Amino acid sequence: MNGPYRQAATAIAMATCLALSPAAPHAPALAATTAVPPSPIRQAPSFFRMHVGRFEVTALLDGTHPFPASTVAVDARPGEIERLLADQFLPAPFEGMINAFLVNLGDRLVLIDTGAGDLYGKEGGGLVSVLAAAGYGPEQIDDIYITHLHEDHAGGLLRGGKPVFPKAIVHVSQADFDFWTNDSNKASVSPLLQPFFPAIQKVLKPYVAAGRVKPFAPDADFGSGLSAISAPGHTPGHSFFRLQDASATMLFWGDTVHMAPVQFPEPDIAIKYDWNVPEAIAARKAVLAEAADKGWLVAAAHISFPGIGHVTKLPHGAYQWLPVNYTLNR
Ligand SMILES: [Zn+2]
Repeated sequence: MNGPYRQAATAIAMATCLALSPAAPHAPALAATTAVPPSPIRQAPSFFRMHVGRFEVTALLDGTHPFPASTVAVDARPGEIERLLADQFLPAPFEGMINAFLVNLGDRLVLIDTGAGDLYGKEGGGLVSVLAAAGYGPEQIDDIYITHLHEDHAGGLLRGGKPVFPKAIVHVSQADFDFWTNDSNKASVSPLLQPFFPAIQKVLKPYVAAGRVKPFAPDADFGSGLSAISAPGHTPGHSFFRLQDASATMLFWGDTVHMAPVQFPEPDIAIKYDWNVPEAIAARKAVLAEAADKGWLVAAAHISFPGIGHVTKLPHGAYQWLPVNYTLNR
């Protein structure tokens, strides 16, 4: 750096030193920067569109919330969560996502999970406005496939006590439907999960009354390239959905990975929301290995928006998440 540029840089550096120095009588330079008010506009509603073979897939961000990984992790060593987050330049708690996915199957418009509706307060319930931003309305949804009956996946069936989707058939695994609609199972789960029983029964009720809940068997084939893969553990009937067109495959894997910065490097760390911890860990490790081996695209409920990417294997049983390339050209 030479000539006038060097002189200017030196002058700026000196001015900055003066402004920052506690000995300086005033700090006018920094004070001036705070005169610009923060934007009054919240982040834009977020959707992201891509294609899987001939199918159009749109990720819909229902909401985000601080995720208390340190308090809900199971079987983590002392300080391990904080270390993993710090290694990835993330605060504790880090921000968790609630993603749902819209799939245009050509003959039907389907939704995979519904977000949290009213059940997460202001931290969820954005799905309908994001759906509108993406060019669709809830009245157009033909079928809804629920990965599992937890509040942040099925809560969006209802807003303000009213069903959101006037014609959709709600597909949920028979095992999850039987479990969460039977109060005698309440005693078998942790206190953390017990409020899910009345919440889930409430959001399902108008759809059950209208004859629009259709429980499915393990590994059901729904036609048009969409099928279920039974993956119990997180809940009794937790299911993946596979979308397939020729060689293009996308796996919607629900809550296989709840805490991406923790469970990709350490898949053995579970979460207190798991119904059966050993089964949930086994399901996670099996599908991580398969997704990495087959190079499947994965669409995930709780990975940073849009929650779509690939998985690769690392040494010592660890995995890595590789997000898709963002684009506006869809
Ligand atoms: Zn979830």
